[in-house]
Amino acid sequence: MLYQRSSSLFAEAKKYIPGGVNSPVRAFKAVGGDPIFVNEAKGAYLYDEDGNRLIDYIASWGPLILGHAYAPVVDAVIDKAKKGTSFGMPTEIETELAQLTVSMVPNIDKIRFVNSGTEACMSAIRLARGYTGRDKIIKFAGCYHGHSDSFLIQAGSGAVTFGTPNSPGVTQGTAKDTLLAPYNDLESVKALTQANRGEIAAIIIEPVAGNMGCIVPREGFLEGLRELCNREGILLLFDEVMTGFRLAKGGAQEALGINADMVMFGKVIGGGLPVGAFAARSEIMAHLAPEGPVYQAGTLSGNPLAMGAGLAMLTQLNEHPEVFESLADKTEHLYEGFDNVLRKKGIPYQINRFGSMISVHFTNAPVMDFETSAKGNNETFKKYFHGMLEKGIYLPPSAFESYFLNDALSYGDLDETIAALDALDL
Ligand code: PMP
Repeated sequence: MLYQRSSSLFAEAKKYIPGGVNSPVRAFKAVGGDPIFVNEAKGAYLYDEDGNRLIDYIASWGPLILGHAYAPVVDAVIDKAKKGTSFGMPTEIETELAQLTVSMVPNIDKIRFVNSGTEACMSAIRLARGYTGRDKIIKFAGCYHGHSDSFLIQAGSGAVTFGTPNSPGVTQGTAKDTLLAPYNDLESVKALTQANRGEIAAIIIEPVAGNMGCIVPREGFLEGLRELCNREGILLLFDEVMTGFRLAKGGAQEALGINADMVMFGKVIGGGLPVGAFAARSEIMAHLAPEGPVYQAGTLSGNPLAMGAGLAMLTQLNEHPEVFESLADKTEHLYEGFDNVLRKKGIPYQINRFGSMISVHFTNAPVMDFETSAKGNNETFKKYFHGMLEKGIYLPPSAFESYFLNDALSYGDLDETIAALDALDL
């Protein structure tokens, strides 16, 4: 395939935008080569600026769970846009989306809409601190909770892909309040809580991690965190930016049967428009302005386009929850196909999967935390990524990312993807 126009658009972009992109992972730094510029997308397919058709496994990094340009979402956006794009005043649709969300997700009474997953996590932490009167938080190495200062400590996703899990610009003062534990290691969390008794406001976690590839929580790990939080008066925060409305109607809380004290959303909740949200029981949310003293605000928060898209998306998922099973079945099919092909090739590999999240690491050892994820062979990953791209399959351009299946993918698309892998020389 030719990607000439993409390359020249990238060269032009680099003159005016740092690195030519508005979010680092898009730049292909981990895999080399120039990124693909998209012209349009429909269903499971991307159409790039060179006229290539690509089968898409990132779905805008998760939001487009029903495929690109999903008609009810597009129609809702057009309909809303005609009536005004933002008012900075309350609108009825905000309550409609809030009500629907609260009805779908366990254990929450109230929700506040923001504009991104970053904002959701940043604000949730402030609320957790305001509520508990404590300063410190525990996060897990390799988890990514957006780019706000407290989280750029051993962060996953683009932060680690670009070699800056601890970003310059984050002050010592901020960093000292973020304590770190390895994912899936309950004992080290217990040790941290012992050493910082009465000082920890929250434990924040991706209940199924997707920012060091896909990492599944070990049996008993999240249950152990729940117990520990109950005992120590710590809030358990589930970052469901990836898992929310993807693993089940009620996200990871429902899929794994564990209650969090606060949940953060992004991606699917906005149907592809900029939406994030954080939610909890009334007692906690009552501390948020204007009801309570913890401040948080947003000029474009709850704007009608974003709310319209979110409402159209969640209404569909709420009325057709069988989509979650359909997605998990498709992911299983891809898993089995990849597993057969890679086994035949005789190279070291691990495939992690949960629901419609899946990733491949080229290593022998089970991948269960950041350390084991980082052992994957990046040279093989590069060959795999570019080989698949050559065959029209668009995968995440870094091993530190999960793939996101969308329900527009047909079994024919999945088989084409498996055949592409089969034909690769790794
Ligand atoms: N939390 C998680 C788990 C994420 O995966 C991401 C983004 N990939 C974020 C937070 C940040 O969301 P956003 O990019 O919308 O700011």
